[in-house]
Amino acid sequence: MNSIPVNEPLLDGNEQKYLAECIETGWISSEGPFVNRFESQFAARVDRKYGIAVSNGSGALDIAIVALGIGRGDEVILPTFTIISCAAAIVRAGAIPVVVDADPVTWNMDVSQIEAKITPRTKAIMAVHIYGLPVEMDEISRLADKYGLLVIEDAAEMLGQTYKSRPCGSFGDLSTFSFYPNKHVTTGEGGILVTDDPHLAERCRSLRNLCFEPHQRFVHQELGWNLRMSNLHAALGVAQLERLDEFVARKRNMGRLYTQLLADLTQIELPLSTTDYAQNIYWVYGIVLKDEVPFDAKAVSAKLAAANIGSRPFFWGMHEQPVLLKMGLFEGVSCPVATRLARRGFYIPSGLALTEAQIDRVGTVLKEILK
Ligand SMILES: *Cc1c(COP(=O)(O)O)cnc(C)c1O
Repeated sequence: MNSIPVNEPLLDGNEQKYLAECIETGWISSEGPFVNRFESQFAARVDRKYGIAVSNGSGALDIAIVALGIGRGDEVILPTFTIISCAAAIVRAGAIPVVVDADPVTWNMDVSQIEAKITPRTKAIMAVHIYGLPVEMDEISRLADKYGLLVIEDAAEMLGQTYKSRPCGSFGDLSTFSFYPNKHVTTGEGGILVTDDPHLAERCRSLRNLCFEPHQRFVHQELGWNLRMSNLHAALGVAQLERLDEFVARKRNMGRLYTQLLADLTQIELPLSTTDYAQNIYWVYGIVLKDEVPFDAKAVSAKLAAANIGSRPFFWGMHEQPVLLKMGLFEGVSCPVATRLARRGFYIPSGLALTEAQIDRVGTVLKEILK
């Protein structure tokens, strides 16, 4: 039986044409014209003034933390249920990650637990949108205003999504995205920072380009990274962005079909299709096994793999990461919801190239496994 990968991107628009243009003109480095084009079109799409394209989403977070002046001794509040990139950016800058448990239904940071974690050392909240629904930005913005905190918004999973009709990626002092092939728009590898602040934009540009100085190029006042995006990657990005509306519609259709197929399985918890602030965009279609199911997500993934169907476990909370615990972080911290999600949750094939026939087969196999 043909295998169904957990993700497969759609690259059948203008990708080839624009890539050929790069080769024909010889513009392949970050100096090429697609980079500016991608940055400005992308920024406009999420209602921001400036876009700074980089070579991956993790690097965008590294730049965001340093650009905002967060460093030694500063505390940054973030969800425990997220990707390591979020905590890594904070720790590498010498700052301290302070984690908040997940909401059991939306899987986003439980915003009602943030205020109790704010101390005089808190400098920022890192808001991360998880899997399909945005985190509740109203409460994060309220707390940021009340305590004078910066907001970094990681919208990697939420391109094309809105929170109360406003684009995700338009909320942070700096907001970041990734263009890894499982994201709504891909450049192969890539990322971007967006902001409305011209000074922050300039700082991000400098940090992505080794902090070369405009007047004395090889005399450096600060350490940056080489995280530039190439013209080849940006060419893909421009082609992909042309189809974002179609891609979002495909994701929502996938979510609707899976939900129909799986709705009568009483052993599992499915993603919410709507809340009062957003309609699920199903970056991935996540499933959580109820506690009465006598096996865990790993066992279901193994059974799916035996039927040639790809899946992935949910995030493993930051508060349980060996690398961070070895640094002495999160001593005595307990996040029971994220701990459970890590063991009971997994996601099924969710890529843009997924067909309705494949969705049907995944549903059928999953019913077999769970019956
Ligand atoms: C994918 C992702 C990233 C990392 O992006 P890369 O481009 O793979 O480095 C960061 N944050 C979130 C929430 C993501 O989903």
